[in-house]
Amino acid sequence: MAQEDVFKKIVSHCKEYGFVFPSSDIYDGLGAVYDYGQNGVELKNNIKEYWWKSMVLLHENIVGIDSAIFMHPTIWKASGHVDAFNDPLIDNRDSKKRYRADVLIEDQMAKYDEKIEKEVAKARKRFGESFDEAQYMATSPRVLEIKQKRDALHTRYADAMQGPDLDALKQIIIDEEIVDPISGTKNWTDVRQFNLMFSTEMGASADSSSKIYLRPETAQGIFVNYLNVQKTGRMKVPFGIAQIGKAFRNEIVARQFIFRMREFEQMEMQFFVKPGTELDWFPKWKATRMAWHQALGFGEENYRFHDHDKLAHYANAATDIEFRMPFGFKEVEGIHSRTNFDLSQHEKFSGRSIKYFDPQTNESYTPYVIETSIGVDRMFLSIMCHSYEEEKLENGETRTVLRLPAALAPVKLAVMPLVKKDGLPEKAREIIDSLKFHFNCQYDEKDTIGKRYRRQDAIGTPYCVTVDYDSLKDNTVTLRFRDTMEQERVSISELNNIIEDKVSIASLLKKLQK
Ligand code: ATP
Repeated sequence: MAQEDVFKKIVSHCKEYGFVFPSSDIYDGLGAVYDYGQNGVELKNNIKEYWWKSMVLLHENIVGIDSAIFMHPTIWKASGHVDAFNDPLIDNRDSKKRYRADVLIEDQMAKYDEKIEKEVAKARKRFGESFDEAQYMATSPRVLEIKQKRDALHTRYADAMQGPDLDALKQIIIDEEIVDPISGTKNWTDVRQFNLMFSTEMGASADSSSKIYLRPETAQGIFVNYLNVQKTGRMKVPFGIAQIGKAFRNEIVARQFIFRMREFEQMEMQFFVKPGTELDWFPKWKATRMAWHQALGFGEENYRFHDHDKLAHYANAATDIEFRMPFGFKEVEGIHSRTNFDLSQHEKFSGRSIKYFDPQTNESYTPYVIETSIGVDRMFLSIMCHSYEEEKLENGETRTVLRLPAALAPVKLAVMPLVKKDGLPEKAREIIDSLKFHFNCQYDEKDTIGKRYRRQDAIGTPYCVTVDYDSLKDNTVTLRFRDTMEQERVSISELNNIIEDKVSIASLLKKLQK
């Protein structure tokens, strides 16, 4: 199946099984805004819990906060967002559609990459066993030609984005003969800057002084509180502050479902370090965060770092953790060494000293910051993409199964009476009543057992138990495992022992301690 079709299936699966709905669905939705349903919210909460505990529980020197979405408008002046949080946009006069100029160019680069991949795949087929990819890449005239075009484009693009130079971006689009995917024409307007922050007014008077913004990132709430936390928590540098919360960006092009939303959620941690030590901490956080992703067991080959060659003016190192989505490797998390830019700016704009006093050396300084910033929704999407499978069974049937890590699954155990009578429902409810304090259980008595198993497979429930007539006599049930579909007879009193450990967030956290 083409990757595009797989992705479409995942999107409709999310809706059909109560994971993600378009927002305001009965009014035909609202662009790039989504709601999480009964299963989605559980999965999302589990992702957040995994992240939060990995930061706050596993690190003595990291604490959390929950700052307000509304903040003093000068904060966004100080952070640079009012002046520079822009995307370059371009319109196609024929389709009347709006695009991000940088995305059009990046897509063009991806096309060159695809061409190279195709050439390599063809050659692999042709040469079979004896194929040497590295040698082919280095010598094939066709590949070299495409690669040269791609690299030239990359250099031009990186130069144009410095500043950015809007005319140069437009010229690239013209020279590369990029066409609008909808109208198929090259009838482009000039490139303009567009600020991504949503604004609104606070209070009754609507003069310009009351204009405030919906935060485009949660990080600034951490920066402006860093000294409050440091003092009240008696924190010593190095220390970190973690936060999970909503962020808002008026994205020009909303694409790929919950990958790019206008209202989304971030999990950010700012780690405050002594100036000069930041480049020692940066690789440590890269490794720590990669381990967090890989503990989910999706396979190392599905992640990669993408180091930035073009750094923001305030950063001295930056990388993305990318995950292999059905539409290619995409950023799910950014790790940035942000120097002391933000704290210094807030010091300047607020007129307050927010320096840290180091009791050991008796000196005051503005700490440097390593930031780890991950989108909850993108993480959610990567998990759904990796877990979704249409599995061909031996009997010729196909089952749709979500192979979610058990600790993240919305429902951990489904309890099913074989029939709706003779005391079996009561027995099933008894089991739920004894286990519901430990993990999320679901009662299901409708349809055949086979259909009920399929329903649970589709939402990723790792365990099901069936209560039958023998259960009434000997207090045993059939335990069925989602991944293998194997079944085992076990005693009801054993269920908690068998399941609790495997479905707990602690089971994931323990992997990080190794
Ligand atoms: P992109 O280049 O994809 O726009 P970004 O580099 O602007 O992302 P950051 O500002 O570094 O992203 O934000 C950190 C994380 O927040 C991203 O890695 C991503 O997971 C998430 N994120 C950012 N923008 C969005 C969005 N519009 N929708 C969903 N998640 C987002």
